[in-house]
Amino acid sequence: MQTITTNAIDLATLFKKQQDFAPQMANTSASQRIERLNRLIRFMDDEGEMQGLKDAMYQDFRKAEVEVMLSEIAVVKSHALHARRELSRWMRPHKVTTPITLIGTTSYIHYEAKGVSLIISPWNYPFNLTFSPLVYALAAGNTAIIKPSELTPHTSAFMAKAIKALFPSEEVALIEGDASVSTALLELPFDHIFFTGSPQIGKIVMAAAAKHLASVTLELGGKSPAIIDASAAIDKLAYHLAWGKCLNNGQTCIAPDYVLVEASKRDEFVEAFRNGIERLYPNSAKLVDNPDYCRIINPRHYQRLRRLYEDALSKGAQESMGGTWNEAERFVPPTVLVNMSEDMLIMEEEIFGPILPVLTYSSPAEAVAIIQRRPKPLTLYIGAKDQRFIQYMLDNTSAGGAVINDYMLGFGNPNLPFGGVNNSGIGKYMGFHGFVAFSNEKAIVRRNFGTLSMLFPPYTQRVKSI
Ligand code: NAD
Repeated sequence: MQTITTNAIDLATLFKKQQDFAPQMANTSASQRIERLNRLIRFMDDEGEMQGLKDAMYQDFRKAEVEVMLSEIAVVKSHALHARRELSRWMRPHKVTTPITLIGTTSYIHYEAKGVSLIISPWNYPFNLTFSPLVYALAAGNTAIIKPSELTPHTSAFMAKAIKALFPSEEVALIEGDASVSTALLELPFDHIFFTGSPQIGKIVMAAAAKHLASVTLELGGKSPAIIDASAAIDKLAYHLAWGKCLNNGQTCIAPDYVLVEASKRDEFVEAFRNGIERLYPNSAKLVDNPDYCRIINPRHYQRLRRLYEDALSKGAQESMGGTWNEAERFVPPTVLVNMSEDMLIMEEEIFGPILPVLTYSSPAEAVAIIQRRPKPLTLYIGAKDQRFIQYMLDNTSAGGAVINDYMLGFGNPNLPFGGVNNSGIGKYMGFHGFVAFSNEKAIVRRNFGTLSMLFPPYTQRVKSI
C-alpha cells in the first residue's frame, strides 16, 4: 500500500490499524456498542465540553449559542439516544417470509458491519454532520476515520481533541485538513464512504469510491423550493420561512432556497416575510449587532453571494427587502428579490445565504415546470390548505423529502429516512436508515428440511414444463 503522510500522520498506517481492528469491532454485542454511544452521550452532557464547542463555533462564524445547542448538540444527542434505545432491536436478525418454492427453508437478513468507514463532513453544521453519521457508524459496528471541514478550524480542532479523548485510533480517528487530505484518504480502500457536502465534490467522492467499489452515502445539497399556494396560511408560513431562511444565515442544506408563490399572493407574502424577519430579529436596522444572526462563513462565499445578487439586479430583479452589506463583517442582510427570471445565476446554483428570490406562478402546472427545469431538490416545501394542490405537487415532482406547511422539519424525525435523490444525494440515513447505511444487509437462507430435487438433473418432463 502506498504511504500517504499528512501533518506527520501516516494515513495508510492508520487505515491498516482500523482494518485490522474492524472484524473485532464488527463482532461487538449491542451492549458493547451502546457503551461507545454512551461515551458520546456523556461527552455531550458535559457542560464544560459543550461550552468549548459553542466557543469554537462562535470563533468560526459567530454562530449563536442557542443555535449550537438546538441545531448541533441536541440533534446529535437525539440520534445517540434513539440509537441506544433501538440498537438491540435493529441488530436482531430480521426474518422475512419464505415463498412456497423454497419450502423447507427460512430466510432472514443479518446486519453486518461494513468495516472501515470514512466520514467527510462540511462546515455548515460541523458538529451535527460529523457526529450524527458517527453515531450510526458505531451503532452498526464500524470503525471510522473522519475528515471535517477546513473552513471551521476551531470546531475541527475541538472535535479532533474530543475524538482522541473518547476513542482509541483503531476505533475512531479524526484527521484535520483540507481537500488534499480528503484526496489522500480517498485513495484508501474504505468499505463505506459517508460524504456530506456539495454535489460538485460528491461527484469526485463517488468517482474515487468507484476505484475500490466502496459503497457511498452522499448527502448533498441543491435548490429546495418553497411553493406557496393561494390557499396557504400566508402569515404563519412566511414567519416560519423567515426562520428557515435565516437559520445559520441561510447556510443550511435544507434551507428554502427560493419561493414560488401564486401570483395574486406575492405582495402579501413579501409583506408577511418582512414582518416575520422583524419578529425574529427586532430592530432589524441594527441586525449587524444582533448575536442571534450569524455570519457568512468566509470571504469567498460572501463574494459569491454578492455576485449572485448583482447578477440578478443587473438582469431586472428588484430588491423588495434588503439592507447594507458589510464585507469586513461578512454580513449579508435578509434580502428579498422579486421580478425574477430563470436565466439569473441565482436561479442556477444553491444560494446558501439569506437571499430569497420570489418567483410567481399562475397554475400548479407552471410551478411544477419551474421545479422540473432544475435538478431534483433535497426538500420540497409545500404551503397550502388545499389538499388536492398538495397531492398534485407531491405526485408531479421528485425530491429527497417534502415538508408540508412548515420548514426545516425534515431533519427532525429519526424514523424517517433523510437524504436526497440524484443531484441532491444518494442513500439515506437517520434512525434505522442510518444503521442500514453503515451495514451490509447479508441475506441468509437456511434449509431446515427437504430438498429442491426437482431442480436437479436429470431434468424430467415435469421440470421442463414448469
Ligand atoms: P464541500 O463539498 O465544499 O466540502 C465538503 C467536504 O469535502 C469538506 O470536508 C471538504 O474539505 C471536502 N472536500 C473539498 N474538496 C474536496 C475534494 N476535491 N475532494 C474530496 N473532498 C473535498 O461542501 P461545504 O461547502 O463544506 O458544504 C456546503 C454544501 O454541503 C452545500 O451544498 C450543502 O447543501 C451541502 N450539505 C448537505 C447536507 C445534507 O445533509 N444533505 C448537509 C449540509 C450541507
